[in-house]
Amino acid sequence: MNSISASRVVAFIGLGIMGERMAANLLAAGYQVRVHDIRIEAASRLVAQGATAAADVAEAASEADIVITMLPDTPQVEEVVRGARGLLAHPPKGRLYVDMSTISPQATRALAAELGAVGIDMLDAPVSGGPLGAERASLSIMVGGAEDAFERAKPFLSHMGSTIFHLGDTGAGQATKLCNQLVCAINIQAICESIALGRACGIDLVRMREVLLGGAASSWMLENLGAGMLEGNVDAGFRIDLMLKDLRLVLEMAQQQCVPLPGTSLVTTQYLDAKAHGGGGEGNQALFRVYDRMSGQRGGLQGAPGAVG
Ligand code: NAD
Repeated sequence: MNSISASRVVAFIGLGIMGERMAANLLAAGYQVRVHDIRIEAASRLVAQGATAAADVAEAASEADIVITMLPDTPQVEEVVRGARGLLAHPPKGRLYVDMSTISPQATRALAAELGAVGIDMLDAPVSGGPLGAERASLSIMVGGAEDAFERAKPFLSHMGSTIFHLGDTGAGQATKLCNQLVCAINIQAICESIALGRACGIDLVRMREVLLGGAASSWMLENLGAGMLEGNVDAGFRIDLMLKDLRLVLEMAQQQCVPLPGTSLVTTQYLDAKAHGGGGEGNQALFRVYDRMSGQRGGLQGAPGAVG
């Protein structure tokens, strides 16, 4: 721990799959971390590591040099800013707020304008890299907002991510993240399609994944979600529900900009199919079940050549 970080206070709000790991890295870097989540039990592991639990946003933020949120969607971020115990009513000491959730770029611009009017700088800084990236502090962080606010936030962000880019004005981080998400969703779809076809052809799927990982079809998704598809493990790192939220935001942005996105539109329908069949809380690898249904298969890949388990 160095004395500079030890004297600095971070308020961290939203301690789910991503937020808990990110806050743990700030604690490990020596910051004083005040945490808040509407699920009181979410703070317990961080408190055991030295964090202080706060009852609400105002209590977490009052002495903070920086306030960070990692929340599911736009309404929760709006509540943190505009709520009775939120940042507008109770400005944080450091007057710097970084939202690392994935939310609407348009709503982000409205919130940043309201906060700016009372002297609080807001950055949008959504991330990519999943729970493993959060744990290893190797996230890719896409930042929008004023350059000087970015410079003030960078030392804190550097303990959560390894690729940190300032992409432009408020909302530019969220817009970039939405472009990232459409690549992720269509890549997951492509992996499902190749596994469905490989299975029908009787190919050893474990070996097929390995050989694809060594060539031009390799991807983060094949590396991180491909094994889960083959094992029939649908535990959530990134939930289907959260991807559906992201795809909704992508399509809203595309409509505003009048950019047709046929690939994104199709994969959104398949994600809706997964949710309609009860998979909203499952990990994104469970998109494969849509292909099970379309191809008349039952029980995932269990029993397929090379499938594990
Ligand atoms: P999560 O649902 O696991 O965590 C969200 C947390 O916020 C929960 O603990 C919830 O109780 C808390 N919360 C909800 N409303 C709140 C409020 N008003 N005040 C305080 N706490 C509140 O979600 P996650 O997977 O950690 O994702 C968080 C954000 O990061 C989302 O916007 C998601 O799209 C994005 N993201 C997730 C991943 C991933 O792999 N899981 C990767 C990149 C980005």
